[in-house]
Amino acid sequence: MKFSASDFPIINAKTYVYLDSAATSLKPHSVIDAITEYYTQYSANVHRGMYSMSERATEEYESTRDVVATFINAKSSNEVIFTRNATEAINLVAYSLGREIVQEGDEIVTTVIEHHANFVPWQQLAFACGADFKVIDCDENGDLDIFTAGKVNLKGIITQKTKIVALQHVSNVLGTIHPIEDIIKEIRIQNPKTIIVVDAAQSVPHMSVDVQKLDCDFLAFSSHKMCGPTGVGVLWGKKNILETMQPFMFGGDMIDEVFIDRTTFAKVPHMFEAGTPHIAGVIGLKAAITYLMKQDMPKLLSHEQMLASLLSKELHNTFGTKVEILGDHSRFPKVGVVSFTLKDCHPHDIAGILSEHSVCIRAGHHCAMPLHNRLHVKSSSRASMYMYSTEEDLSQFMKAIRAAYTLLTGETV
Ligand code: PMP
Repeated sequence: MKFSASDFPIINAKTYVYLDSAATSLKPHSVIDAITEYYTQYSANVHRGMYSMSERATEEYESTRDVVATFINAKSSNEVIFTRNATEAINLVAYSLGREIVQEGDEIVTTVIEHHANFVPWQQLAFACGADFKVIDCDENGDLDIFTAGKVNLKGIITQKTKIVALQHVSNVLGTIHPIEDIIKEIRIQNPKTIIVVDAAQSVPHMSVDVQKLDCDFLAFSSHKMCGPTGVGVLWGKKNILETMQPFMFGGDMIDEVFIDRTTFAKVPHMFEAGTPHIAGVIGLKAAITYLMKQDMPKLLSHEQMLASLLSKELHNTFGTKVEILGDHSRFPKVGVVSFTLKDCHPHDIAGILSEHSVCIRAGHHCAMPLHNRLHVKSSSRASMYMYSTEEDLSQFMKAIRAAYTLLTGETV
């Protein structure tokens, strides 16, 4: 089933102009139906039931691992761990691996443009272990400061003391698609032993991500940004590394045997999935990936990119020097995300007024305070697009933002 806007009930209802897909995407009928089917036809717990409803729930839940593995080209479905979200996936690595391998005097490297989910866990790990927390800077366009004559250069940044490097693939504020493959190659040249964690929360929904080609060690993403339900995330990790790690949550479902004096744990990946999982959510994720795999992803990405350029142009044409688009002059391609500031208008006021016009955008620091500080802005407004966004949405947005500007400044544009 190729994409059609009518696949999405909220688009069909025409109640909202939804420009907040970087926060969470809308969900197609097939995902909602898969979740409803679970709750109405076989809503049993997984793994332990000896009856057919539970067996079916287990089969649907476990087969999602295969679908995720195929989607990101993992070598084995045992490398796929279900978490609550990308945040938990990253924290899992920080706790289960980080606390084992990082010692005083070691280095953990990340960047100033990260989402807090890929920044705070590493910062806190460094504080806890007495490690050096190194943060790669960016320029005024949000492009990372790691290029010499157009080539990635990490000499002096990644050293023999670097235990972990955590990087985003795509920025949730700027939309920038970083040349992650080249960056990883250079990290491996500087220190082949460094563990590389990629935050793919904003890339997996928009483009094909192949973990073997990337050659990272861990990849984290969230179901809810890629047409799936909230409450489910994925951590992919290389099996040989996962097998050296200890669980960071203990309880049911993750054990092999429990005695008063000792416990042995289940094998990877179940060892990392303590307690009853979000079964309906995982089944919904399978439907979401099945949906995405039927789409022409490069075409959908070009559509978003076309909309983002159009929106940037319209904002410049309308507001001239009063508008500043974050990362406007980046050297890299982008997904459909446009973050901006408008002179004399607070982003929260803009978002509030747009809401009265049924236009949904996000305002604030978008969980990227270090980036906003680096770019010398406190907060910004963000419009973000996905496959179902249209030029008509942008017209509605422009109409609403003109009205907001007039209301907030008294000036007509
Ligand atoms: N990384 C990036 C780049 C994100 O945009 C987000 C969500 N905004 C996250 C991580 C965290 O995702 P979640 O809140 O689903 O854990």
